[in-house]
Amino acid sequence: MALDEIIGHGRQLDILRQALARGRLHHAYLFVGPEGVGKRTLAIALAKAVHCAAGAADFCGRCVNCTRIADGNHPDVRIIEPLAGKKEISIQQVRDFERELNYRSFSGKRKVMIVDPAASMNLASQNALLKTLEEPPQDSLIILIAANAGGLLPTVRSRCLRIAFAPLARREVAQYLREKHSMSGDGVEFLAAMSMGSIGAALALDQDELVKKRRIWAGMVGALKGGDYQTALAAAEALAGKRDEALKFLAWAQSWYRDLLIYGVSGDGDALVNLDMLEQIAAQSAPAEIELCIDALGASSRAAAGIQRNLNRRMVLEKYLLGVVKGQS
Ligand SMILES: [Zn+2]
Repeated sequence: MALDEIIGHGRQLDILRQALARGRLHHAYLFVGPEGVGKRTLAIALAKAVHCAAGAADFCGRCVNCTRIADGNHPDVRIIEPLAGKKEISIQQVRDFERELNYRSFSGKRKVMIVDPAASMNLASQNALLKTLEEPPQDSLIILIAANAGGLLPTVRSRCLRIAFAPLARREVAQYLREKHSMSGDGVEFLAAMSMGSIGAALALDQDELVKKRRIWAGMVGALKGGDYQTALAAAEALAGKRDEALKFLAWAQSWYRDLLIYGVSGDGDALVNLDMLEQIAAQSAPAEIELCIDALGASSRAAAGIQRNLNRRMVLEKYLLGVVKGQS
């Protein structure tokens, strides 16, 4: 294992690799980006690269330092997170962590503190941490991890070098599932497509359940015939109950309309996400309906964004499904 074996995030890795090679790591980083894309993995990789016995601004994954960091028991590397059963990182945890940072490191290398998720520090904890960020102890490396920087005090943010992470590309998630989790088959592409660029999300999805759901959803979408507003409203009501469920449906709907579009344009089945539903796709897709698929694809992604922003789910879904029905009339 080495830095260049990390999947995705090429630009972010370059920044860190160069800083390592020049011995010019910043005292504090803020890794910000969606859940499950690998921010924590990269923070731990950075800690390994700092401490690896093989040196060379990279890590081997096998030496005693790499192994201890991976096991969470290296004396110079700490991960600060809410204690079991707690939602917040307490001010006491932050104080303990600061005291430790001020001790000399065991290895003579940097002491690394990873705070994940950083937004689980309440205001008092963040203010306590601020003092350390303003005057970082010699040879300390603090990495704050956050899904978005909004939960952090501006004064905390401004003292960290921000590295932004984007969702992974679908092929990167698929590659990860194949290489690191030995998954195979058509299901991998589908999981990757449904994961919205998050490995965490891909691993949390239940493949069997998803396949079942997908058949229901495909039936639902297939039943949305031109002008049938009643069916659209009933579907919206059925989907609106659970936020998670609604988002999964909309992620799938995007893959569905994308498939119809690709098949309508190229007649090529190989590039489809819902490969095993080729028959339905072939039946529903037509070159004349390309505009409609483009509209539905855009509308699915806007609806998902609306639900992520906590707009009223039922209203978002009604607007979306009525729009699909209207497009078909
Ligand atoms: Zn090593």
